[in-house]
Amino acid sequence: MSKTFSINAGSSSLKFQLYNMPEETVIAKGLVERIGLDNGVFSIEYGDDQEFEITTDIPDHGVAVGLLFDYLKEFNIIDDLNEIDGVGHRVVAGGEIFKDSTVVTEKVIEQVDELGEFAPLHNYAEAVVMREFAERVPGATMVAVFDTSFHTTMPAENYLYSLPYEYYEDYAARKYGAHGTSHNYVSRRAAEIVGKPIEELKIITCHLGNGASITAVDGGKSVDTSMGFTPLAGVTMGTRTGDIDASLIPYLMEKTGVTDVKEMINIFNKKSGLLGLSGVSSDMRDIEAEADAGNERAQLTLDIFVNRVQKYIGQYAAVMNGVDIIVFTAGIGENSGRQRKAILDGVSWFGIELDEERNDTRKEAIITTDDSKVMAINIPTNEEVEIAREVERLK
Ligand code: ADP
Repeated sequence: MSKTFSINAGSSSLKFQLYNMPEETVIAKGLVERIGLDNGVFSIEYGDDQEFEITTDIPDHGVAVGLLFDYLKEFNIIDDLNEIDGVGHRVVAGGEIFKDSTVVTEKVIEQVDELGEFAPLHNYAEAVVMREFAERVPGATMVAVFDTSFHTTMPAENYLYSLPYEYYEDYAARKYGAHGTSHNYVSRRAAEIVGKPIEELKIITCHLGNGASITAVDGGKSVDTSMGFTPLAGVTMGTRTGDIDASLIPYLMEKTGVTDVKEMINIFNKKSGLLGLSGVSSDMRDIEAEADAGNERAQLTLDIFVNRVQKYIGQYAAVMNGVDIIVFTAGIGENSGRQRKAILDGVSWFGIELDEERNDTRKEAIITTDDSKVMAINIPTNEEVEIAREVERLK
């Protein structure tokens, strides 16, 4: 039987799922956290609800991958490493080079590393992790699956910023977007659910998790997306600002005494969004609970989140000159019927009629009435399985 890893490495974490393919059954899954920090944590679930967790120093990604292979053997999850014949790696930044998932070679690893400037928290670590897997399972087909690939179909009028054109030519300064694997997966799934060729559909996909982005998918192709040069842009997120006026950067640096622009960007990335606005939490569940308890700032935070998503839905209906389906996915999108309702109630003039009973779900479901002109669908995303499928496709 063929076993395939789906790997998602970040600067201090590594998520993994091991699948039987093509059955897509999960053999094991887990997480290595706090890599390079004190008290690293390795956790794994396998077999019939068996779980294991250990806190230990994990100084780098090499040690993290080593731990994973040690425990796969120790718990008899695999007998022979040759059983693993596929490894798919999520890569955040593919720049303009990678328009599709790609079989990993030494050259690809070097390119991923070079693109680190575009995603410093991810690409460098991803290149290291690819090398670690290449050493341990040299016989496996390794595939890099890029968050940005799905968006490489955007036309220049949507990916260019209104900056001097040379900045694009000389420095590749443009919109790249992210979450492409998820937007691709849920848009295709939406077409399957309605039983129409995706080429005939205009879909707006709302990936609303801790990180959030919205994409206009016209005829199966991403034509615009809310994240920008980096994932900082777009809607209000757990800890990220989303769109702001760049003039705020020097103004706030002067007022707050922050002298390093990277520190300011760090505040925009890690201390803003739902967390910064509410002062309570970056977690939507906490903010909903606080708002219900009468915290007005928490309620305002919810209103701003909903408002930003609505604005992008409006924009993208304009970009595509129409919309047939709005898809909700990721932590908030999949689980919070309350946020879906708040968002859709404000754009009902498009011809969206929410069915409140259908909307009371966390599963895959059409949540609008049968008469609704525009359909809304809840679709749990599954980036991990999509990565494993890309390995199958390119094997
Ligand atoms: P990540 O981008 O880290 O993968 P997720 O897609 O897991 O994030 O989404 C995390 C977000 O989903 C959090 O804000 C969390 O509060 C929210 N969320 C999860 N379940 C619910 C729920 N039942 N109601 C509201 N929000 C939820």
